[in-house]
Amino acid sequence: MIDFKSILEDIKQQISLVEDKGNVADYIPELKNVNKNAFGVYLNVLKNDNFGVGDYQTKFSTQSITKVLTLALAVAKKTDDVWKRVDVEPSGNPFNFLTLLEVENGIPRNPFINSGAIVIADILVSELENPKEGFLDFIRQITNDQSIDYDYKVAASEKETGFKNYAIANLLKSFGNLKNDVDTVLDFYFMQCSLAMTCEQITNAFYLFANKGKCLQDKLHITSSQAKRINAIMLTCGFYDEAGEFAFEVGLPGKSGVGGGIVALLPNKFVISVWSPGLNKKGNSKLGMQALELFTSKTELSIF
Ligand code: GLU
Repeated sequence: MIDFKSILEDIKQQISLVEDKGNVADYIPELKNVNKNAFGVYLNVLKNDNFGVGDYQTKFSTQSITKVLTLALAVAKKTDDVWKRVDVEPSGNPFNFLTLLEVENGIPRNPFINSGAIVIADILVSELENPKEGFLDFIRQITNDQSIDYDYKVAASEKETGFKNYAIANLLKSFGNLKNDVDTVLDFYFMQCSLAMTCEQITNAFYLFANKGKCLQDKLHITSSQAKRINAIMLTCGFYDEAGEFAFEVGLPGKSGVGGGIVALLPNKFVISVWSPGLNKKGNSKLGMQALELFTSKTELSIF
């Protein structure tokens, strides 16, 4: 039997000794207001037990982690259309890189770079009567947690400085890969990115990807085949231009966000979320990656 609790305690201890904690994202001004020393982990071992250490119950900005959740809702609503409008190849470029989109005629490389997530946001704007409420409702359902909400200050702060995302959305529109108007889609996109959650809530939300599409309450939200495909995209595209490095070091499908969160999972086995706000040069949580590398090394649990 693996003693998960003491492994997580050990990791917290080891991580606390690392001096260079990376740099907090500041291109969205509101994200600067965070304690750089915060560190939390929450693990759910499927059909077994849960363990949390550190600041696992503190809410933070999930940012790009929500791209997986909007994708799940979009495939649940409209499977065929999604893969005609977004590809599933790693981009090997930063999340807000524009050039590829022009070269590839407005078809984003994958749903986890900004251009892809903006197309997914457009699909949800078309599919949901009230996308902001509909998406929040989906998150609250899969987590069975009504306390989850958007952070309106973060959304407003990103909107004020979201010039690149406006450029991306306009480029998508020029190629005919945005059906709704740019402002409406970006208003929803900025809102989804602002979703504030704890490590515990993120782990609970991602349970369905490890559990063949069924959430914690055993309700089916996406098919097991859709869960398999989304996990594959997390493995190949979940870490900006560092997906290879994450697979090399950690060996799990996962997704990061510039708020310093990372969620990763081993299908049928566990879901783990970690939060440390300082980022490395590629925009992934520096200590979060180290913590997960320690976790899969100590437990010998990875997909490889
Ligand atoms: N809202 C952020 C942006 O569009 C998401 C970045 C991220 O977490 O990767 O720039």
